[in-house]
Amino acid sequence: MKFSTKLIHAGQSSDPSTGAIMTPIYQTSTYKQKSPGDFKGFEYSRTGNPTRQALENNLAALEGGNYGLCFGSGLAAIDAIVKTLSPGDEVISTNDLYGGSYRIFNSIFQKYGIKFHFTRMDCIDSLNNLINEKTRMVWVETPTNPMMNIIDINQLYNLILDKDILLVVDNTFATPYLQKPLEQGADIVMHSLTKYMGGHSDVVMGAVICKDKKLADKLFHIQNSCGAVPGPMDCFLVLRGIKTLHVRMDRHCKNAKSIANFLESHQKIDKVYWPGLVNHKGHEIAKSQMLGFGGMISFTLKGNKLKDAISVVSNMNYFTLAESLGGVESLVGHPASMTHAAIPKEEREKTGVVDSLIRLSVGLEDIEDLQKDLDQALKLI
Ligand SMILES: *Cc1c(COP(=O)(O)O)cnc(C)c1O
Repeated sequence: MKFSTKLIHAGQSSDPSTGAIMTPIYQTSTYKQKSPGDFKGFEYSRTGNPTRQALENNLAALEGGNYGLCFGSGLAAIDAIVKTLSPGDEVISTNDLYGGSYRIFNSIFQKYGIKFHFTRMDCIDSLNNLINEKTRMVWVETPTNPMMNIIDINQLYNLILDKDILLVVDNTFATPYLQKPLEQGADIVMHSLTKYMGGHSDVVMGAVICKDKKLADKLFHIQNSCGAVPGPMDCFLVLRGIKTLHVRMDRHCKNAKSIANFLESHQKIDKVYWPGLVNHKGHEIAKSQMLGFGGMISFTLKGNKLKDAISVVSNMNYFTLAESLGGVESLVGHPASMTHAAIPKEEREKTGVVDSLIRLSVGLEDIEDLQKDLDQALKLI
């Protein structure tokens, strides 16, 4: 099955009892047993639910994995992955990662004895220096949030190939349509399905996908024991969103390209971060490991004034000021005061999250409307 067909069919078949084409919302907590232990594959909806299972199988197929597991949010998925570790283990992570990931690592898991290191991973030496016999996981986002750095997944895979270290890729920004980390050597892919996968800003959900049975068993055990599972209605909505992922991503990429070019030539803009620009430092790697460059763009303003950035993000009409990304509608965010507020100023500025940095999730509206909207907001400063 080719990717576009998988989006629509993988993991799903018409409902055996009615012939319904779309996977029904199995809104049930439990299932009848004929005699104790004799049941049709489902016993309790924390453990398994047919709507969730269809989504989990669909996600496994899309990422080229063997196992998919859904969680109540992207962070619940991250939580489950880190819980496969033990006290004393060490994780090396990208330094400009999603603020919520930074927060759960530092404020929750650190106190259970897991140690986290944060570093640049577009420079292999800095990562190499942190690897020791306690390192069990390398955690990457690519493109990174919000600086759009590109990390060479295959290069990381080769670096830790002969070591007992799992490579985890947060594939939220790229989606499996643009990038398949498992094929490039990653052990685990995780998603905030809240973003492009769901695609319509109406669900919060997360997922973990892997190939290895032993690893999947550990994750299933955590999913069932800790219980951070999504409900069937939400699983239905994500399944529905995924069916148009390819069509949406193509347009997200196309609109983002126009916006990135527009911003690059605008006199009030200092830097534009979008991996599709030839002057972006990760452009060549992005070209080789991604099918397109995605719909996320960050940029800074000349003069780097906080008040100018606040003015721009507060005066747009089609770009709504809000957390999150990846929906059909355009959103704008101010990382320093919103998504990355949990990261100390000193720490975030080292990675480029300066006061005037603005992040766009370019949606599927008419491109002229979007450009005009940006232009009028920039004229006000
Ligand atoms: C949003 C996001 C998360 C967290 O997902 P939630 O669904 O909000 O819990 C993790 N990683 C990235 C890259 C994200 O954008």
